[in-house]
Amino acid sequence: MSDVSDNLSRIMHTLPSDGSVTLVAVSKFHPAEAILQAYDAGQRVFGESRAAELTQKAAELPQDIKWHFIGHLQTNKVRPVVRVAEMIHSIDSERLLRAVDAEAIKQGRIVKVLLQVHVAQEETKFGFSPEELEAFVTPQLVESLKGVEIAGVMGMATNTDEVSRIEADFDAIRRVYDNLAAGPFAGDGRFGTLSMGMSHDYRLAIAHGTTMVRIGTDIFGQRQY
Ligand SMILES: *Cc1c(COP(=O)(O)O)cnc(C)c1O
Repeated sequence: MSDVSDNLSRIMHTLPSDGSVTLVAVSKFHPAEAILQAYDAGQRVFGESRAAELTQKAAELPQDIKWHFIGHLQTNKVRPVVRVAEMIHSIDSERLLRAVDAEAIKQGRIVKVLLQVHVAQEETKFGFSPEELEAFVTPQLVESLKGVEIAGVMGMATNTDEVSRIEADFDAIRRVYDNLAAGPFAGDGRFGTLSMGMSHDYRLAIAHGTTMVRIGTDIFGQRQY
């Protein structure tokens, strides 16, 4: 077995056996050969963070791969990403949401999206604050979108070794998700994804209710930027 397939099977054993947590294998900065090793081990969902890299890999790799876009997305890169992504995790503004919706309508596609909530103390400045997001998402907003399906919420915990900080961040992200699920998305079966947890903190994320983890380094090793 390759290192990649070893790593993958080790991680799969740490996920709940009922299939309630989906693994996104974050392949950014790793070559197509590494992705194929994971693919051959059965992995089908891969995460990329740059439009050009996503487009190139999608063209040369098997067509049944489900590509998730997880990086900050500029509106001028929306077209190629909408063309290949099944899900975009990083909707961090109304402008971006509207741009993705308009492009998906133009392409005759439905794209699943996650709304990015920002709670971490440093790291990325991208994302809605919990208050902003809960005010932004109304039944009227959801009704107005024809090309995107809001499937849930994505967030990152503070990059720290302090477990209590990470747990508090995951709980804050989860609270936003729960409030939206009980509010504007009540009874909407399409809203059901809580994307949180990366290599160093995904076990904590599982304990705090995640349904989707985004793991790169633990599968593919260190990235060479
Ligand atoms: C790169 C990235 C990951 C994966 O991080 P690892 O620490 O390598 O597991 C997860 N989520 C986002 C948004 C990323 O940009």
